[in-house]
Amino acid sequence: MAKIKAEYIWIDGHQPTSKLRSKTKIIDGPATALEDIPEWGFDGSSTMQAEGKNSDCMLKPVCFVPDPIREGDDILVMNEVRNADGTIHKSNMRATLSELADKYSDHEPWFGIEQEYTFFVGRSPLGWPDGGYPAPQGPFYCGVGADEVFGREIVEDHMDACVRAGIGLSGINAEVMPGQWEFQVGPLGALEVADQLWLSRWLLYRIAEDYGVNATLHPKPVKGDWNGAGAHTNFSTKSMRENGGMKVIEDACEKLGKKHDEHIAIYGAHNEERLTGLHETCSIHDFRYGVSDRGASIRIPMATANDGYGYLEDRRPAANMDPYQVCASLISTVCA
Ligand code: ADP
Ligand code: MN
Ligand code: MN
Ligand code: MN
Repeated sequence: MAKIKAEYIWIDGHQPTSKLRSKTKIIDGPATALEDIPEWGFDGSSTMQAEGKNSDCMLKPVCFVPDPIREGDDILVMNEVRNADGTIHKSNMRATLSELADKYSDHEPWFGIEQEYTFFVGRSPLGWPDGGYPAPQGPFYCGVGADEVFGREIVEDHMDACVRAGIGLSGINAEVMPGQWEFQVGPLGALEVADQLWLSRWLLYRIAEDYGVNATLHPKPVKGDWNGAGAHTNFSTKSMRENGGMKVIEDACEKLGKKHDEHIAIYGAHNEERLTGLHETCSIHDFRYGVSDRGASIRIPMATANDGYGYLEDRRPAANMDPYQVCASLISTVCA
């Protein structure tokens, strides 16, 4: 049996926003099924997941993809964290989503997540004059040319890597603030989109590392008259995608409005800096939905309104949200 490198990736216990961690295990390959990938452990006292005197945590593989960086038979392994006795660790948000996805599988929920992020070098966004500001926003969104777009080579590398890994990427674009970009994952089922979003975030950090650039998911990386970074979550159920779906979508928006505060509570830290009512957002204190309305909490895309069925876009989640929690909250509010 040939040896392969398996990069074990997991989510730590950092507060208020969890971070990604990873380490490499040499295992017997090739791995063709989850059963081929052993469970592993780590020191939870170094990841805010355990006390020093009882620090072993378990890594339980939940999905794997070809490693697009090391290539060959090497793999990236997404894990959930268990306690030493195998029970669900309190930082493990995937387990709840897994239960809900099972319980409401007949609704066939689909998600497409737009991940916005910002490249930084030192204290400035990539392409910004050191300690200063570029020209005001306007030309940068979907721009082209060395005066408007910064970091495209990293973005292209990341996109290629995601595609090689079999991640369900659906596109990329340069964003409104220079140095800010977006990629979209989905539409996919809840666990698939969330696992793949975490893997694609890991690839983003890892690839940018080779360029000496740091990608941040902070929802308001630069204060003032600059766009924040979100993770618009597009969501549909089977009945929303069928004739008459518009009514189901409106009912879903009404339900979401009643639970606005509960959703905001898990839609990402520092989101109040981003959801100000300016820069294509609705204030964090208000809830509104509307067709084509980019100033609403929830936008119903024009094509959905025209067809009478389709999906809704929850514009509230911040770029640093946890997709396990966001998908779980949408399923439990809308499908229950
Ligand atoms: P925007 O116009 O808001 O920038 P994007 O094109 O960036 O929109 O993202 C739209 C997302 O919606 C894509 O990720 C796509 O996969 C997703 N999507 C499309 N159809 C559905 C659907 N029926 N259910 C859930 N998500 C969907
Ligand atoms: Mn988009
Ligand atoms: Mn965007
Ligand atoms: Mn959007």
